[in-house]
Amino acid sequence: MSNNKYDILIAGSGLGGLVCGYILSKNGYKVIIVEKNPQIGGCLQTFKRGNVKFDTGMHYIGSMEEGQILHRFFKYLNLLDDVPLSRLDKSGYDVISIAGEKYKFASGYDGFIEELARKFPQNKNDIQQYVRRIREIANASPLYNLQEINSPVFIEADYIKTSINEFIASITHNLRLQNVLAGNLPLYAGVKDKTPTYIHALINNFYIQSAYRIVGGSDTIANSLAKSIQSFGGKILTHAEVEQFICNENKMTSVLLTNGNVIEADYFISNIHPQITMEKIQSKLIRKVYRERIANLENTLSNFTLFIKFKKEQTEYLNYNFYYYDHEDVWASNNYDIDKLPQSYLYMHQSVQDGATFAESAQMIAYMHYNEVKQWENTKVGRRGADYKAFKAEKTQKMLDKLENSFPHIKSAIDAVYTSSPLTYRDYTATKEGSMYGIIRDKNFPAHTLVSQRTKIPNLFMTGQNINSHGILGVTIGAMITCAEFLGINTIIREIEKVNN
Ligand SMILES: Cc1cc2nc3c(=O)[nH]c(=O)nc-3n(C[C@H](O)[C@H](O)[C@H](O)COP(=O)(O)OP(=O)(O)OC[C@H]3O[C@@H](n4cnc5c(N)ncnc54)[C@H](O)[C@@H]3O)c2cc1C
Repeated sequence: MSNNKYDILIAGSGLGGLVCGYILSKNGYKVIIVEKNPQIGGCLQTFKRGNVKFDTGMHYIGSMEEGQILHRFFKYLNLLDDVPLSRLDKSGYDVISIAGEKYKFASGYDGFIEELARKFPQNKNDIQQYVRRIREIANASPLYNLQEINSPVFIEADYIKTSINEFIASITHNLRLQNVLAGNLPLYAGVKDKTPTYIHALINNFYIQSAYRIVGGSDTIANSLAKSIQSFGGKILTHAEVEQFICNENKMTSVLLTNGNVIEADYFISNIHPQITMEKIQSKLIRKVYRERIANLENTLSNFTLFIKFKKEQTEYLNYNFYYYDHEDVWASNNYDIDKLPQSYLYMHQSVQDGATFAESAQMIAYMHYNEVKQWENTKVGRRGADYKAFKAEKTQKMLDKLENSFPHIKSAIDAVYTSSPLTYRDYTATKEGSMYGIIRDKNFPAHTLVSQRTKIPNLFMTGQNINSHGILGVTIGAMITCAEFLGINTIIREIEKVNN
């Protein structure tokens, strides 16, 4: 049994844990990050089959032109040199295909308006209004603009209490345009009449400004952050799974790892899903009411993904993301018909080099409810049985048939296909039921479905996609809010601004 004492122990090395590790170790705290997997990064993890590397949970990022918000964060986090990018097609970084008709999201506010107005000439004013409103919403969040504030207010209440579909319907009566504007909703697994407007507005405003793929895999982000944390004196342990968070009568004192080691610290940050975090704390400091509230929160959907390896130089590289819907109503995707899966999907090529002519690999992602794989929930990776393999093979065939309809002859260019299911995500990131983006925010119960970075244990904080918002920007801003508990929010904002000026 080893016994070390740290200022701050961070449980989990997802983006949230790593960004907290960066900020806090840079500011002189003695930090240790413990990660259960052999590989750090959580959703930033990649895997290799042959010589092809696949991303698992970070496919494209936005606002990366100099001066734009993510660029400012990347500069502060010293990521710019280590994370090569390839810009997606400015004339259509996202293509939305609804019932056979295609629509493009072009980069830049004016480009976005002009391109969509070509398809909806009667609704140009509506499109202009849409862009104006999402910009207004993004501008109303001080943290999204790195403005100094008195308390970390994430976003104004109005945008939390209106659903995305209500918001879009208030802008245009044109039903097809409403569906197109919501067409990239798999980016946040939006739920009709539930998901608050701010999530859609912040994400679309983020990508409209500029959109990029990460060349060579999203693990470049995790590896660069880890390198910096270590250079600041921080420590990262892999194969280090937290079995239990241990408390005395007043506060948390240590973590017990599954290998029997105990690590002590003055403060703790959990990057583990809040529902799982609570299961690992026995202490009475967590009251029953709080425990039950967290346990009963609903999670976003999971997915079934095809990781496709192409034959050499057979498939033209597509420099855009393709969102496909069989049907008119994009919101209906959540309640898909199991026999007809997939009725919607997201298809993307991976970038191995800026300006590539051919694609080496692609991913095809379709929603999948946990119930579809529940019967195998007590099995382990690689040993789930022949019936599970048959289930995956059938889904794979159906998905490839669907893909072939939109991309004729694609099947003959495929060398190999690998798959993941909700169980894969559950086991690799420890999110409940393999949920893609964690807890669903609900505009009907805004306070109830927002998880605070503070817990009922005075020296335990949380970070990651369940705090504030998911995605590269949402989690980075969430980490800043968690670190503000130690440093003050304005100190961090000033540090970021200093590096950028
Ligand atoms: C399929 C998919 C596609 C996505 N695409 C994009 C995209 O294109 N762009 C974008 O911006 N965002 C995307 N996202 C969202 C984004 O990846 C996530 O919001 C973000 O990476 C989550 O970071 P996190 O810190 O919350 O935690 P996670 O990445 O979930 O990491 C949690 C970490 O905690 C570790 N852990 C869990 N339990 C324990 C334990 N007991 N002990 C020790 N360690 C533990 C896990 O192993 C993991 O490393 C995507 C997500 C998914 C699932």
